[in-house]
Amino acid sequence: MAIHSKFLDALTPSSIRSITAKIRDKAKNGETVISFAGGLPSSEFFPVEDIKKIDAEIFSSEHGNAIQYAASDGYDPLREYLVEFMKRFGVEGINYKNILITSGSQQGLAYLSKGLITPGSVVITENPSYPGALDTFNAYGASVIGIDMEEDGMSMDKLENVLKENKNVAFIYTIADFQNPMGVSMSVEKRKRLVELAEEYDVFIVEDGPYSLLTFNGKVMPAVKSFDKYNRVIYSGSTSKTIAPGLRIGWLVADEESIQKLVYLKMRDDLQVNNIAQRQVYHYMKEYGFDEHLQQVIDVYRERRDVMIDAIKASFPEGTKIYKPEGGLFIWLELPEGADSMEMFDFVFQKNIAYVPGVFFCPDGSHKNAMRLNFSTTDKDTIAKYIPILGEMIKAYKK
Ligand code: PMP
Repeated sequence: MAIHSKFLDALTPSSIRSITAKIRDKAKNGETVISFAGGLPSSEFFPVEDIKKIDAEIFSSEHGNAIQYAASDGYDPLREYLVEFMKRFGVEGINYKNILITSGSQQGLAYLSKGLITPGSVVITENPSYPGALDTFNAYGASVIGIDMEEDGMSMDKLENVLKENKNVAFIYTIADFQNPMGVSMSVEKRKRLVELAEEYDVFIVEDGPYSLLTFNGKVMPAVKSFDKYNRVIYSGSTSKTIAPGLRIGWLVADEESIQKLVYLKMRDDLQVNNIAQRQVYHYMKEYGFDEHLQQVIDVYRERRDVMIDAIKASFPEGTKIYKPEGGLFIWLELPEGADSMEMFDFVFQKNIAYVPGVFFCPDGSHKNAMRLNFSTTDKDTIAKYIPILGEMIKAYKK
């Protein structure tokens, strides 16, 4: 008999994975899909040669100790490094005890969900938002309430109304920089107001920042956490988008007592994050030209974004609204009212082109006319060739 429980039986496959499955089926038939659907950094830039060198150094200096059991809170040199790193986002006055290393930011989101969501809890998110987070909040029993987005982040007035109406808010979840999926960033005024609202209504904020350094105009925004006088914000960082996601290194930043509680949770989960990956990231960031690497990736992504925007402008239906991102990995589009990007997915997919329909990011089923396009993993010639085909297919689609 298969294992079963209320918890397990309520879990469903992630919506975006259903697209991945379709792409895999085509691949089995020998067909290549041009996927603008992924949320991936481009593997062509992963620092493979540097990581090989780092591995050799780790084993010659640390021998077996490098793969011995280690502390649950993380590799201290990496934690110390991240204390300095957080200053890039204006987060000062912390020490290594304010940092817990996690296996990717997804694990941090899972810990905060396990720790903070209780029966009847509400989690407030941006609408649209990252489905991987929404699925996790749902899995641990929260009702998710989405707050409409504006071009400078979620509507603070709508947020305040929801805070007034709901007494059991576990936390507010925000991707303040180059939001997934819309690519927009929250203004500084809103960041400050968000912290004040959290204090006034006695709730926590989870700030997810995987895209913050992927900035195309050189500007790095101060984190919401940098305005946090009240210890209301738990910041979640990741190296998945800036180095490589398979290393699975993320971190949480919070007051010491909160981190200690999360360490107890980690002890009951996976004991510790992989030692080698923590060392790889530490040495890479500290000694192997992380900033030059980042600049190289940013330059390529910016160019791909520009090629994609131009191609969209030239080929998509009149009245399409384009959100031009100043960083991150995605372009969000709103097709003219009445279009349904979910309905037209299979029609477009006949041409072996994939995107993510807007509804996948919206638990309330809104944004049916929207879609998210990823520009980081496809080279500019391919973008220039296939975005017009996507545009033509959208125009040709009839219900
Ligand atoms: N948060 C957001 C907003 C993301 O887009 C993603 C990955 N696409 C994650 C978290 C998960 O990242 P990680 O690899 O660090 O677990």
